[in-house]
Amino acid sequence: MLKIAFSPVYQYQLPAGHRFPMIKYELIPEQLLRQGIIEPNQFFEPKLLSEKWILRTHCAQYWEQLKTKSLPSRIARAIGFPLSDALLHRGRVISQGTLECALYAQKYGVAMNIAGGTHHAYKASGGGFCVLNDIAIAANYLLDKQLAQQILVVDLDVHQGNGTAHIFREEPRVFTFSMHGAKNYPLRKEASDCDIPLEDAIEDEAYLSILEEQLLYLSASLKPDAVFYLSGVDVLASDRLGRLGLSLEGCKERDRMVFEWCKKHRYPVAVSMGGGYSTSLAQIIDAHCNTFKMAAEVYDY
Ligand SMILES: [Zn+2]
Repeated sequence: MLKIAFSPVYQYQLPAGHRFPMIKYELIPEQLLRQGIIEPNQFFEPKLLSEKWILRTHCAQYWEQLKTKSLPSRIARAIGFPLSDALLHRGRVISQGTLECALYAQKYGVAMNIAGGTHHAYKASGGGFCVLNDIAIAANYLLDKQLAQQILVVDLDVHQGNGTAHIFREEPRVFTFSMHGAKNYPLRKEASDCDIPLEDAIEDEAYLSILEEQLLYLSASLKPDAVFYLSGVDVLASDRLGRLGLSLEGCKERDRMVFEWCKKHRYPVAVSMGGGYSTSLAQIIDAHCNTFKMAAEVYDY
């Protein structure tokens, strides 16, 4: 069974004119159902993440400042969303979704969150539309509960997973791999365990051959018992923020490659959706839906 976390948007509305495509979180499940890729009973609604697990990853002062909306204005601005109770609620539910996906992945091989991938959130600050780091929270949960000994984060969002890299910089049990646009946000990159910076406008063939080589290298050097895959579709040529040159088909092949690799090596994989800011909303939705389609196809669900 392919389990999919869906967190309703909870009346969380962005100010008019905000460029973040919030609507995608509603349209993706609709399209997945309409195209028969998934059945309604595959969705689950994550609960609210407990503060205990927020504080395992994020520092108490940051969490307190979020709750009381007293973040230093520099950090609040860097997040890029207006702070509100609804935003925090959503951040908690999304992170819980990734955590529950990690548990479902252990049972079913793969599980997917229609949200998440908030990899720009650090221990003590947020940024780039990220408040809490869902993958870091879920990874720490698996470690503390002794449900995993060696975790691998495969971050293929076009933006570097700076928050995740920094959170786990001294944690050998979490290996962070990030393949991203060299010239893209964040301008100041952190050191992941393995970074593959890509030149602007790289196209399908070159991208996929680099990825294939890197996945071979990762499975030769690590034995992960949990994988988190951040499947941002901002690698598309049509993306407003991406700078890379992948086609819709290339992006789909990327997903297939990751799922086939996880399946072959029996790595349980939890997928967080990540960014997608194409000028065409239809293309954002198609690209994200392809990730779910590829998982269903590769795992034969
Ligand atoms: Zn991104």
